[in-house]
Amino acid sequence: MTYEYRILEAAEVAAHLRERGYWGTGAVDVAEVSDGNLNRVFVATRRDDGRSVAVKQALPWVRVAGPSWPMSPTRAAAEARAYRRVTAVAPETVPALHDYDAQNFALIMEDLSDLRVLRGVLNEGGGYGGASTAVGVFVARLSFATSDFGLSSAERKALLAESVNPELCKITEDLVLAEPYLEHEHNHWHEGVADLVAAYRADTALRTEIADLRHTFMAGAQALLHGDLHTGSIMVGVRDGAEVIRIFDPEFSFVGPIGFDLGLYWGNTIAAEARAHALGRSIEPGAELARSWHAFESEFRRLWPDRLDTFFDDAYLDRFLRRVWSDALGYAGAEIIRRIIGFAHLSDLDTLPDPVAASRRALTAGRELILRRTTLADPEAVGELLTATGTPAVIAGRRQDNSVEGVRQRR
Ligand code: ADP
Ligand code: MG
Repeated sequence: MTYEYRILEAAEVAAHLRERGYWGTGAVDVAEVSDGNLNRVFVATRRDDGRSVAVKQALPWVRVAGPSWPMSPTRAAAEARAYRRVTAVAPETVPALHDYDAQNFALIMEDLSDLRVLRGVLNEGGGYGGASTAVGVFVARLSFATSDFGLSSAERKALLAESVNPELCKITEDLVLAEPYLEHEHNHWHEGVADLVAAYRADTALRTEIADLRHTFMAGAQALLHGDLHTGSIMVGVRDGAEVIRIFDPEFSFVGPIGFDLGLYWGNTIAAEARAHALGRSIEPGAELARSWHAFESEFRRLWPDRLDTFFDDAYLDRFLRRVWSDALGYAGAEIIRRIIGFAHLSDLDTLPDPVAASRRALTAGRELILRRTTLADPEAVGELLTATGTPAVIAGRRQDNSVEGVRQRR
């Protein structure tokens, strides 16, 4: 399918804003800030009072590849839909969405330029602040509201129909949940982990578990997900003395297994721990996983009495949360593995002076998480596993300061 629409250049963004009812005729400065793989992002600032917004537009191809790699711009609609659903239940966790232009696949949203991407903060040795708690609350509220607990049966079917996102789901199905376990031209790795790559490809038990996680991703339509919730999809900072956390870029959003959002985040926190450990920084293995799980679980339990369908009883809630927990551990493991031997790698590990030891540790933990996901009882058990697979706590060195003041000093 070909898409005919206006692809915005920086010089056209002011006119686009006016057309969409933004800001009248005053002068506007526009800068392109795209640094992601897929889309264009501009920041537009009014010259008179300095107010600003961001404009994000999906191109009919992958931005960094150009027209030779076509991709449907309807991913912008998935992003707008996800923002609207989150805004209804957890508005403070996402950028405010001011406008979605469905003809031109362009969003106008809150400018986040004063914040920093969490991954960059962590790479420099900064802490999470309240990010893991925010992730837990975000996933609990979005997933409860869009599950069979928060919507009527008919509303759920409508949500499923409107939220299909086949092209972006296929990327995850292939890049995350298949290719790393196959010979594929996308894969690449540091020669220091080549033996593990070969071993994982030959590991039939691991292959079956990945197949299970892949099928759950395809068929486990529990709730609307963010779909790409890694530490590069979170901005953090301080405004007026208060910590601000914004989860952004939900273009992979679709109705899938709730554990996928938590697990992607966990995989990235475990990779960040492997980096911190390699650099001799103070870490508590699994601490952020524990924080986000506890926040998720307590928020989901808090919402439970509001469920529309009370045939689902309290005993079922326990069983359901147990399944989310083990799915999330599996997706965390899959995320770690694919980020070390698959297509897209992590700056957390790639920028280490010697990434091999940390990568091996993370790969080992990833496999264990996948294989043991149904028997690991709780975050404490995961912390023990991470310590045993070689990311022991480093107690020497300064503890991370997660207070607002600490967050401010790191900016
Ligand atoms: P992609 O979908 O292409 O990965 P992202 O949504 O991740 O695009 O945005 C790419 C980059 O653009 C971000 O890393 C950030 O630097 C910048 N950006 C995205 N959204 C905003 C925003 N609302 N305000 C300011 N900058 C933004
Ligand atoms: Mg994106």
